Amino acid sequence: MGSEGISTGIVHSDRRLGIEHGGVHKPIHTSVQYGFDKVEDLIGVFQGTTKGGFSYARQGTPTTAALEAQITRLERGVGTVCFATGMGAISAVFFTLLRAGDHLVASQFVFGNTNSLFGTLRDFGIEITTVDATDAAQVAAALRPNTRMVFVETIANPGTQVADMPAIGQLCAERGLLFVVDNTITSPALFRPTDVGAGLVVQSLTKTISGHGHALGGAVTDTGRFDWQNHPNIFAAYRKGDPRQWGLAQVRKKGLRDMGATLSSEHAHHISVGAETLALRVAHTSATALALARYLESHPSVVSVRYPMLESHPQHALSKQLFSAGSWLLSFELADTAACMAFINRLQLAVKATGLGDTRTLVIPVAPTIFWEAGPQVRAAMGIADGLIRLSVGLEDSADLLADFEQALR
Ligand SMILES: *Cc1c(COP(=O)(O)O)cnc(C)c1O
Repeated sequence: MGSEGISTGIVHSDRRLGIEHGGVHKPIHTSVQYGFDKVEDLIGVFQGTTKGGFSYARQGTPTTAALEAQITRLERGVGTVCFATGMGAISAVFFTLLRAGDHLVASQFVFGNTNSLFGTLRDFGIEITTVDATDAAQVAAALRPNTRMVFVETIANPGTQVADMPAIGQLCAERGLLFVVDNTITSPALFRPTDVGAGLVVQSLTKTISGHGHALGGAVTDTGRFDWQNHPNIFAAYRKGDPRQWGLAQVRKKGLRDMGATLSSEHAHHISVGAETLALRVAHTSATALALARYLESHPSVVSVRYPMLESHPQHALSKQLFSAGSWLLSFELADTAACMAFINRLQLAVKATGLGDTRTLVIPVAPTIFWEAGPQVRAAMGIADGLIRLSVGLEDSADLLADFEQALR
């Protein structure tokens, strides 16, 4: 079973958890309360001695547990906690594992809302240094005695910068630091952060894993690589049993139970169904994205294209080493910034919308929308030019999509 492919593992994971009433798909459990024949079993759920028991749906249901098992298997981890959104998952990691006076080193190339969250964390007394994480030496230089965590994205949205994860992972291992990787854009179909020593993997299930733009969700997976005995912020209540589960126990109790960004069973079901075609979708969209990136790069009206599988990408060699394909995310700039909006309006298939990882191709000018609130200084620091256009490549037939871009650029 250890060597089986991604798709086989996903489509058979429900069955392996124990089938209910012969249902081949995991049922959607909508009950908020979970009752027991004997009160001792209820007590056992609270005290963690009743195996796999449920008590109150804010902390999980059999349906969300099935999705958690699916993601744990995909990431080759030791456990997963799901959340209502990717931001719910990311917030839970920062707010439950960091304390006032701690220091976080993060990539300066991160999702806009994650960057906005850094501002909130600073107000709670957490020190944050953002660095160009494509260069591990910058991460090393930023470390302080109170550094507790290093946070990067695999392929950064929207600039597609690729953090030097093998070197950062090694650095974190040497210093006993928790390395957290946001695997949203790549997903475990293209890359597993455990392979570069990440202790926690966070991701928005809304994007690649769900893949249909019809459900929000997030996940935190423990890879089992970080030794929680080295982390001073684990409360005594969770320093019990297998130390590999300490961190996730705290994320589930303090992050999910207390903060309450709970994934509903309905959305967990949508995400699980979407995940069944993960490998197929990622292969198709990556191939289309590469064809489109090559076409755009060769077009005289385009000044730059950012896609990790292009030879011109600054981290191309590293990307080839780490990722089995380049994902559905690419961005580019037209030579004439003023022509940008008219070009986007001429696109017929690509939907003018924010969001990522949908079945439909989505296109958005970055500076006046998702990075508007950040302001010009932050945009400059994150390498976001005024004319940058972001694409999330969908499941359309490649030839149709290429034809749409050809007519719009004409
Ligand atoms: C979208 C996204 C998130 C946030 O996920 P939501 O499900 O929208 O909350 C986090 N990180 C990255 C890289 C993203 O693209």
